[in-house]
Amino acid sequence: MIILSFLLNFTAISVHLFLINMSTMARKKKSSEKKSPGKAVSTKGSKLDDISKLSNKELKERARKFSKQYCVGDGGDFQLKKYSTDPNIDLGPEDKPLMKLTLETGVEALAELQDKMYAQDKWSLLVIFQAMDAAGKDGAIKHVMSGINPQGCQVTSFKAPSAEELDHDYLWRCQKNMPERGRIGIFNRSYYEDVLVVRVHESILHASKLPEELVTPDIWKNRFKDIRNYEKHLSRNGTRIIKFFLNVSKKEQKKRFIERIDNPDKNWKFSSADAKERNYWDDYMKSYEEMIRNTSTRESPWYVVPADNKSYARIVIVSAIVNAMDKLNLEYPVVSKEKIAELKTIKQALLDEK
Ligand code: AMP
Ligand code: MG
Repeated sequence: MIILSFLLNFTAISVHLFLINMSTMARKKKSSEKKSPGKAVSTKGSKLDDISKLSNKELKERARKFSKQYCVGDGGDFQLKKYSTDPNIDLGPEDKPLMKLTLETGVEALAELQDKMYAQDKWSLLVIFQAMDAAGKDGAIKHVMSGINPQGCQVTSFKAPSAEELDHDYLWRCQKNMPERGRIGIFNRSYYEDVLVVRVHESILHASKLPEELVTPDIWKNRFKDIRNYEKHLSRNGTRIIKFFLNVSKKEQKKRFIERIDNPDKNWKFSSADAKERNYWDDYMKSYEEMIRNTSTRESPWYVVPADNKSYARIVIVSAIVNAMDKLNLEYPVVSKEKIAELKTIKQALLDEK
């Protein structure tokens, strides 16, 4: 109990500081842009006061510390019950402007890192999203990736496998969509479905074309091992992987389902299959827990993101991605002296043009 309350306080303090500092950065930057001054941000009534000024470096350090509390790292003794579905901080409407500005600042930092990664053309980043329905995967992808160059980013959604996909092993369709060097690849669901939905509904496994003698009681343990090795292989070849489980509560899912039913513009997002899957909630949670325990590693960690508050979840995600990219020490390629001399000559020739 003491440990838990310490964690909760720590979370509250961290978000507090993170929000304050991220916002300060944004305002500093915006006020220096003379051509398009940033809109004033109302901090009135917000508990997220402006207390200090951060450099770009400090901002990244803050992102590291903030996201770390949701990073599972080595999954060995992972227990889902230790991770909250809500942020444990009382965020009200008065905090919205600062939350929005914080996300924008994070996206700006992410865009800068992506630009370098693209120019450098060596590393790639794979970001995996897994969650129950209505946990906010689509919205998170839309908002977090909104400010980045589309050329350097590719999103792939994985649904129930097609006949062609079932004709191959379950990693095949994912391998085909791995990000190229210099790019960010986003997987909206992934090969992890093959230890989640396929585990919860073993009938899917039996209906697949896998030879029956390979469907043994060890199948899940073996799949975890294969996934760990696969991710190790990708890491060793220049793909950084981070994985987000958007941890929404059953209560919040119910609320969002009802919203989707009540709002005609959201009807398309809801299917009766979603309501059916909800009946298997406990089986899913058990499968998620085992999956994270067996596949979270220091180099390719899972983040368990409190997803009952969408704005908060997006800030966690952007800070974790900024941190992962920052660790790659990305730099623009250094141009040789010869190349600089050549550029100068070309510039002079352009200036001399009549
Ligand atoms: P959505 O992401 O809401 O559009 O839904 C996609 C659906 O495809 C989800 O219900 C997933 O569980 C399902 N799905 C994804 N991968 C697999 C798979 N390998 N086997 C069976 N169902 C899958
Ligand atoms: Mg769905």
